[in-house]
Amino acid sequence: GRGGATLTKRKKHLGTNGRRFVSPLLNRDEENSTSSTRARKYLPQSAQSQEGEEVDERLRNIEPRMIETIMNEMLDKVAQVTWNDIAGLELAKSTIKEIVVFPMLRPDIFCGVRAPSKGLLLFGPPGTGKTLIGKCIASQCKATFFSISSSSLTSKWIGDGEKMVRALFAVARVHQPSVIFVDEIDSLLTQRTDGEHDATRRIKTEFLVQFDGCGTDNEDRILLIGATNRPHEIDEAARRRFRKRLYIPLPEAEARRSIVLNLLSRLRHALSDEHVDEVIRRTDGYSGSDMDGLVREAALDVSDVRPIILEDFIDALTQVKPSVSPKDLELYVKFDQEFGSVS
Ligand code: ADP
Repeated sequence: GRGGATLTKRKKHLGTNGRRFVSPLLNRDEENSTSSTRARKYLPQSAQSQEGEEVDERLRNIEPRMIETIMNEMLDKVAQVTWNDIAGLELAKSTIKEIVVFPMLRPDIFCGVRAPSKGLLLFGPPGTGKTLIGKCIASQCKATFFSISSSSLTSKWIGDGEKMVRALFAVARVHQPSVIFVDEIDSLLTQRTDGEHDATRRIKTEFLVQFDGCGTDNEDRILLIGATNRPHEIDEAARRRFRKRLYIPLPEAEARRSIVLNLLSRLRHALSDEHVDEVIRRTDGYSGSDMDGLVREAALDVSDVRPIILEDFIDALTQVKPSVSPKDLELYVKFDQEFGSVS
């Protein structure tokens, strides 16, 4: 497999042939545990030799239970996501293809000339496709996709958050190329430091250390993607670490149309082109996920006997309102002008 090849190459590179490490994780008698089986499945092949199971050197100082948690809760087996699955966002998509995906796919060409951008910040209103883009990048780069929300680091693993961050980057390194997608990254990299919990501050510090460490080894192919609806809350030092900051705006009319048509193609409906035009005209300011909700609402009360008609959408429009306010949009535009990356 891919992981095995990477490991072999790195082992040679590091001159660590022959040093074996026996994993407590794999020696534990948990044959029937799904989590254990799953964790094992994603270990590099060379770490699963018959004569004694071992684990990658880079995981030597990581607690096995944390590796397990990461494999079970953060590793995201994404289905194939293509650029066509993402409506609109042409500028963001072409920028990402050029600066992220192409270098990831051809490190031989780009190494040294243009190292893959290790930090990408996607900011904009909720429900505009930031997560979708993260999955698409991982899918297109054939990368392992790790997904985590900042709040789980700071609340769910309270006490362990710092170690968890270290473990996550270590596991991502073993499974590279990897994409680490951090949702709500503002709450992790917030500028509000006074009164901040000690634990939270330590998580943030560790995160920045790991983030910085990502690029020190030229062979590492780990991309960190941060997503946020509140880019202003990220402190300056952290903000500068993201080499690219891309605005992911609300969908334009054409993008809304393709979202609706895509969803309708899987349903029975009797909407003409003019009907669809009408729906698009009435949904200015709706996000991608608002559009998704609208179609679902329109389809809700339709029985098997008749197809979805325009009236269903008119009714649905009274239920499903745009989730983003014009005032919020101004903030994003302003942040983009000030801190956004021009492609
Ligand atoms: P975000 O991460 O920006 O909050 P998501 O990527 O999770 O938003 O999008 C939520 C859902 O909304 C997606 O699963 C998809 O159904 C729909 N959606 C949002 N933006 C788009 C888009 N640009 N193209 C297609 N679908 C979209």
